[in-house]
Parts: sequence; C-alpha cells; structure tokens
Amino acid sequence: MPEAERDTLATDIVIVGAGPAGLSCALRLAQLIEQHNAKAASNPALSPENIYVLEKAGEIGAHCLSGAVLDPRSLRELVPDFEAKGAPLESPVTDDAVYFLTRSGQWKLPVIPPFLQNHGNYIVSVNRLTKWLGSLVEAAGVSLFPGFAGSDILYDGRRVAGIRTDDKGVDRNGNPKSNFQPGYDLRAKIVVLAEGTRGSLTKQLVRQQGLDRAANPQAYSLGVKELWQVPAGRVGRGQVIHTAGWPLSGRQLGGGFIYALEETQLSVGLVVGLDSEDPRFDVHNCFQQFKTHPLVMGLLEGGELLRYGAKTIPEGGYFSIPTTATDGALIIGDAAGFLNAQRLKGIHLAIKTGMLAAETIFEALLQQDCSQAALSQFETKWRASWVHDELWKVRNYRQGFEHGFWPGVLHAGLQMVSGGRGVRARYPLYKDHEHMKRLDEMPGGPVETRPDGKLTFDKLSDVYRSGTHHEEDQPCHLKIADFDICNSRCAREYGNPCQNFCPAAVYEMEENADGSGRHLKINASNCVHCKTCDIADPYEIITWVVPEGGGGPRYDGM
Ligand code: SF4
Repeated sequence: MPEAERDTLATDIVIVGAGPAGLSCALRLAQLIEQHNAKAASNPALSPENIYVLEKAGEIGAHCLSGAVLDPRSLRELVPDFEAKGAPLESPVTDDAVYFLTRSGQWKLPVIPPFLQNHGNYIVSVNRLTKWLGSLVEAAGVSLFPGFAGSDILYDGRRVAGIRTDDKGVDRNGNPKSNFQPGYDLRAKIVVLAEGTRGSLTKQLVRQQGLDRAANPQAYSLGVKELWQVPAGRVGRGQVIHTAGWPLSGRQLGGGFIYALEETQLSVGLVVGLDSEDPRFDVHNCFQQFKTHPLVMGLLEGGELLRYGAKTIPEGGYFSIPTTATDGALIIGDAAGFLNAQRLKGIHLAIKTGMLAAETIFEALLQQDCSQAALSQFETKWRASWVHDELWKVRNYRQGFEHGFWPGVLHAGLQMVSGGRGVRARYPLYKDHEHMKRLDEMPGGPVETRPDGKLTFDKLSDVYRSGTHHEEDQPCHLKIADFDICNSRCAREYGNPCQNFCPAAVYEMEENADGSGRHLKINASNCVHCKTCDIADPYEIITWVVPEGGGGPRYDGM
C-alpha cells in the first residue's frame, strides 16, 4: 500500500494504554495542572485536554485482566476518598488461606507467609476498577481515545517525538478497503508507554535505544482465569485462597488462586512461569486439571462459567526493569516490569509509577525541558519512593526459581532473612524460552484433560467467554519472521509449542492440501492479547503487533 497522507496533530502528552498506570498518570497530571492553573497568572498555561490517552480496546478497561487483590496504598494517594467516589472494590479481604495440593489431597499452611497476607486489601475486578478510573480521568478533562492503538513510535533523530495510531480499514493483504482511514501522527512533547505487559512499542523502544543494557532479561508467567457463578454457602465473601503444588511439577514455578468477589462469584485461576522445559506444556490444559482437584471442584461443582481471560505477567522484578526514561519518553507500570512477583501484585505499583511519571512530566512541562536528563527525574523519584523499597526486598525472588519450585522456596527463605539478597547480590536470569528443551530430551508427556463442558472446557469455548472479536479482514497481527522454521525445523525439534502455549487456540498445524506435510495456520481473530507467543517462542520469530484498534477481548468483571 502506498504511504497514506496522514493528519498530524500536536499536543503535550500522549499516553499509550489506558490501564491503571496510564490512567493514574493522566489523572495525577490533570490534578497538578488544575492546581497550577488555579494560581493567578500561572505560566505557562497548561491544559488537561492536551493529555491524549490512547487505548486499543474499544472500551476503557476491556483489555484489563488480573486476579486481583488490590493493595490500596497508591490508590489512596491518588484518590484519597476513593471509597466515597464509588471505587468498585468488590470486597475487602476477610480471610487468607494457603494450601499445598497433591493429586487428591491438600495440606493447609498453619501460618500464612507475610507476603500472602492480605489484611487491609481488596478483591477487585481490575477491568471494573479501570473503567472507574477512566471516568475520573474523563471528568478531569483529559482526552481519552478508546479504539485507537499506538502502532509506531515517531522519532526526531533519537528523540521520541510522538505516536502514530493504527490505520483502519486495511484488508488482509494490506490494501485499503472502502472504509480506509489512515492513522494520525500525534506529535507530543512527551510520550508515556503504559501498554501493560510486553508492550509492542515498549519492546521496540527498549531495543532501539538499548534501555535494557544493564538489566536482566524480563521473565514472565502466564495467568489464565475464569469467573464462576457458584451456589451460595461454599465460601465467604472476601475469602482469598492460594495454592501451590499439583498439577504443577516440582520443576515449575506457579500456583492457583481462588478469590471470592461475592459469596456466589469466584475468580479462579492458575499462574505458571513461561520458563517451562517441556514444549508440550499447556497452561490452559493444566488449569483445567487444577479445577478437577477435590478442593477446587468442591467449590465450583454445579456452578456456571461466566468469563475467561489470559494474560502474561512480568515477574523479573527489580533487576529486569530497563532504563525508564529517554529523550521524550517514559515507561511505566507493567510495561516497565513494575510488579512484585512474590506478592503477585502489580496494580498498586502501576498506579504509583503512573503518579510519579505525572509529577516528572509536570515539572518538565514547566521547565520546557523534555530531555532524557529532565525525565530521568522519574527514575530518581521511583527509586526514592516505597516502590523501590518494596521491589528491593524481593529483587532476587523470581531468579531463585530458575531451577524449579523447591530450590526456589529455599532461596526465597534465604532472601527473606537477608533483606532480599540470598546467596549472592544479584542472581542471574535467562529468557524464558531458553529453558525449553527439545522433544527428544523430554520423556513421557503431559496429562491431557478431556473437557466435560461443565467443569472443564476447551480453549475455543473459553475464548468465546472472553468476548474476543477482531475484524476478520485485516492484516494478521502475529508476524512470523520465517514460516519455513515453523513448518519444518520447529515441527521436528519442538513439535510446534505455539499450539500448546497459546491459551486461545490461535496456532494450529494444518495438513497441506497435497498431503505433503503440515503448515502453520494462524487463527488471529481468537487472540486474547496475552503476548505469550511473543515471549515463549523458542526461535523468537513471532512478533505480536497491534491489530486494528477496537479488536481483542471484551473483558467484563475480570
Ligand atoms: Fe496470546 Fe499470542 Fe495466543 Fe494471542 S496469539 S492469545 S498473544 S499466545
């Protein structure tokens, strides 16, 4: 397609991603601007309308998914009267329990480890919480653009100069359709990347500028989750249950969770590291097994599955955070890896880093200096805040699990008594896919669960419950660098693990029409935007890019 003529708009700030981080940044900046403008003869005049927030989902919050138990610390700083303002907090946590599961039994920990104690926290639907935050941001006069994805970064030399939004109305071959509308070039003084886990623009920027030069690689887990309606009387509202053990092997990091949003509504999920050795391992399938454990089955039996979703979680921690400021841009929240893997919590850090970014941006706008030197104040601020203190205490946590669950527990214990250090100052970390072994190195095979359609479900039934929808006639947003590798080498060496690690049945090996073998088929419209394939592919030849804005899952209550 020839290069389209695009409209160019100039503004102060473009925030890519309307999740908790991006919206908190927008709201805090609008608060600061309001205070500034209230002073007589404030100069320069700033306007919240010049904060543009782009969101690839058709509706604010529709791509947000988490467990979730919220530590309200940063929300209280951002919106001190959040309860009076109607924050959708489903329930305060009333009770914590941790179980170790075997195939048919369980052992309840007599004492809850401090990092899993949730007194004072709230069970939330992050998708509802985000919608609510979006309403505050809109009321503050910020310009919100749902349905617009950031597809490219605009540069002036090395400096980030803005964002190009997605072209709309392009067919699967890249040709304009009758409804073609080119994306906008939004030129901005500062761009904030708040795309969430494994953001596609963040990945580009970090690589282009070597922002991760001094960092460990990022490590991820995949969380799959279902929302269930269950008969009353099985669990109390506000109950939080975490599990370790079955169905995961001793070589895997992960565990299950059950959160009671209401007495009759449970959020149930499984989180597993993407550093699995076995290319046949399938987190979705493992989650279905998890639900057949007597403890979980006893809670869900006779209930109804309402919703499904999946998302990766950046767990590398302190040493995996790249440089978060560059000329004209900041990276915040999950996009930068601000997440406490030990507590399984990131929303509070997303909100706080959004706020600190806003304070940095405000000062930069007043000084009219958006250089890396000025924006590096963000680094200084988060390192001087409780964000640093919290992450420093668990700086080696995820790396301690490199050799499996039990060695990881031992390391975690040593780290707890040594203020996060453990046996060395900085544990190394390897990319998740580097742990994957070839088929011929893996004996046996994973246990297959046959879905019964009542308690256990196949991927397509689950995807249906994620509300996922994409315009079918558009370029595939899963870019494969070399199909020959998929169809021959990967098939031979790893058995095409994309078929297993994708929790939405996007990848499928299909027989060739002439019977000469199999080829990779991509059912891109099933994609729930979890980013697993971009991370876990052993040859790193899958690149996830944004599809046409408005497509993707439609999470509700998740
Ligand atoms: Fe996740 Fe990739 Fe599958 Fe989409 S295609 S659901 S991003 S693994």
